[in-house]
Amino acid sequence: MKITFPHMGNTYIVAKSLLDDFEVDYVIPPFNSKKALEIGTKYAPEMSCLPLKINLGNYIEAFEEGADTVLITGGCGPCRFGYYCEMSREILNDNGFNMDILTLELPNGNLKEFMKRIRKLTGGFNIPKVIKVVKDTLHVSKKVDSLEKLTFKARPREVKKGSVDRVYKDFQKDILNVKGSKQILKSIENTKNKIMRLEIDKDYEPLKVGIVGEIYTTIDFFTNLNIDSKLGGMGVEVDRAITVSGWITEHILKAIIPYRKDISYKEASKPYLGAMIGGHAQETIGNSVLYANMGYDGIIQIYPLTCMPEIVAESILPSVERDHDIPVLTLILDEMTGEAGYITRIEAFIDLLKKRKERREIGEELILSGN
Ligand code: SF4
Repeated sequence: MKITFPHMGNTYIVAKSLLDDFEVDYVIPPFNSKKALEIGTKYAPEMSCLPLKINLGNYIEAFEEGADTVLITGGCGPCRFGYYCEMSREILNDNGFNMDILTLELPNGNLKEFMKRIRKLTGGFNIPKVIKVVKDTLHVSKKVDSLEKLTFKARPREVKKGSVDRVYKDFQKDILNVKGSKQILKSIENTKNKIMRLEIDKDYEPLKVGIVGEIYTTIDFFTNLNIDSKLGGMGVEVDRAITVSGWITEHILKAIIPYRKDISYKEASKPYLGAMIGGHAQETIGNSVLYANMGYDGIIQIYPLTCMPEIVAESILPSVERDHDIPVLTLILDEMTGEAGYITRIEAFIDLLKKRKERREIGEELILSGN
């Protein structure tokens, strides 16, 4: 059995850590690219979600490098994510790519079935080893996310433009040559230290923008055309509430181990959307409210064309915008998205936020001076 998995931002680092520590044979697909998207678009139904198309491209490129089994998370609805596993299996097999799909998520609360899948993945079931590997993988995922958050803070403040990206991109490439959670953690620590040593403008106060939306398009830098880096280059500090480690903890681990879930976004979204309708729609609404409460200057919602939960969220966001006095920009992505138009919209939004902030500051000064 030779495992592969789909790309989604930095998840390949987490998956690599897990598979290295389980000593499983695997292939990391080539990074997301136009080629992967074209392959996936060729085989996927036209109206299927963009992530499914890119993922199919990943599987087929990995198949060509010898992979025969796809490891994914998910497998239950209520949106189309519930069909990803079966759809991918059928599309691959119908087109002569003989691959099996293994989903790592508690199937309808069935712990026995979950353990069977772990056994299949690891070739045995050594409980202490499974616990250790899962713990180490979770640790890696948290460190990967905190390194990414450090780049969010450092980019707008860097003195030499592009210096954070240079260090971070080297890390994302070089990590492919590192093996096991221990070495991966060491490499993350080294990268963190390199970023901390970069010259930054400590007095600069950037605009702050919260990124919300569908998980894949918000996390995957190829798909969202490196929005974190683009905003950072414009002097904007971003934050994204949805993270890989959060996904692993909230949706996989807490489904197995009964532990209190993070419901802050649910509480915040209650006046607008009181039920889970699939995908991350509730998180989109709840996190937008939370960002507004934290004093962020704006919100950017990103989602793939035809994503049902985010279409619902988009229709609710004007109420959040009005009630919480925070501007929202929605960006919808598909395989036809052109970079120039995308950047123009982001630049126009940032200009609007800057002017708004200036007006506010002038107003505050006038009030304080009593004029
Ligand atoms: S969340 Fe949206 S993009 Fe993701 S599977 Fe569901 S409908 Fe598709």
